[in-house]
Amino acid sequence: MKIGAPRETHKGESRVAMTPKSAQELRKLGHECLIETGAGTKAGFTDEAYREAGVTIVEDAAKLYETADIVVKVREPKDEEIERLSKGKTLISFFYPGQNEALLEAAKTSGATVIAMDMVPRISRAQKMDALSSMANIAGYRAVIEAGSNFGRFFTGQVTAAGKVPPAKVLVVGAGVAGLAAIGTSTSLGAITYAFDVRPEVAEQVESMGAEFVYLDFAEETKDGAESGGYASVSSPEFREAQLAKFRELAPDMDIVITTALIPGREAPELWTRDMVESMKPGSVIVDLAAEKGGNCKLTVMDEKIVTDNGVTIVGYTDFPSRMATQSSTLYATNIRHMMADLTPGKDGTVVHDMEDDVIRGATVTHDGEITYPPPKPKVK
Ligand code: NAD
Repeated sequence: MKIGAPRETHKGESRVAMTPKSAQELRKLGHECLIETGAGTKAGFTDEAYREAGVTIVEDAAKLYETADIVVKVREPKDEEIERLSKGKTLISFFYPGQNEALLEAAKTSGATVIAMDMVPRISRAQKMDALSSMANIAGYRAVIEAGSNFGRFFTGQVTAAGKVPPAKVLVVGAGVAGLAAIGTSTSLGAITYAFDVRPEVAEQVESMGAEFVYLDFAEETKDGAESGGYASVSSPEFREAQLAKFRELAPDMDIVITTALIPGREAPELWTRDMVESMKPGSVIVDLAAEKGGNCKLTVMDEKIVTDNGVTIVGYTDFPSRMATQSSTLYATNIRHMMADLTPGKDGTVVHDMEDDVIRGATVTHDGEITYPPPKPKVK
């Protein structure tokens, strides 16, 4: 099959879905690779590097969509990109079918098969294709770097001839994939790191990374933090009050707060209130990784960095993976390459779209002119 990666059209997007290295792997599966000219430039991959990896450079998107059997992309397609698809073609990209009904309908009408990377089931076997986790990992790391670049002091404490410097205190709210990456980055930079999650079972992971888990004095904690399929559910009002009271106590002492708390299918819970921001020291930094879902911090402005009257910087960027485009493209392209490996069991360039396979079935949102989202519950745990 011919696998082609177009240039991303979303404003400010620097990632690309195929790297020279992933193309070499795709070719070992018996596929041919194409890329639109310049598609990898912002991620640090030149046309020359693709050419050396045996990739054919195509002059524009129209030609790419016309030639490729399988189009691989990062961002969900725009209408004009969907219009370039047709029966017999496959698109593999982030798609968010639950939030993009019209797009899903358009994909169905096109007759193309769409594999949504955000719908890959989060089961052990599919970890190598879990693009949500690879991007969340980068976002967590980058959130700390972003905080550091807006913070006027060291993370680590130092005793120097010019004076003693105290370590920074960092609080990470939400210890999922992004939160754990933020915790790891923060502790490795030498900050005193605290973390909180409604799922108390993550405490051990947090502590093993050298951070301190913030416990609440709340009897129902384990019940309220109960998982639903490994994810958080909405907290009771009493639990939420206990959580906010603890955060209020911590706020004046924290230099950096990284919020990552999300509940699938809902707006982000508001956990860092105006009075908490107002009680923080001037020069403190909040990075709100939940900005796209409304933000965990009351004062976050999506896609912007603001400084409050009391001198607290609040970063609400939503493009952290794109800000590390070389790394994120490398991991994302590897996730896609693994998906293609599962779709090419004979390693002979022939795609077998096995709708009996939980992972392929779970991620396929249109197939044979039908909408196949939502998928049935996976059989494998
Ligand atoms: P997410 O992005 O949906 O949420 C981020 C974190 O916010 C979660 O840890 C959640 O518990 C927390 N949170 C929600 N409400 C909160 C609140 N009020 N206060 C504090 N924290 C709050 O989660 P995610 O990073 O995508 O992963 C969540 C779960 O999925 C974890 O259990 C993770 O281990 C699991 N997971 C499994 C796999 C796999 O098996 N392949 C892959 C990735 C993630």
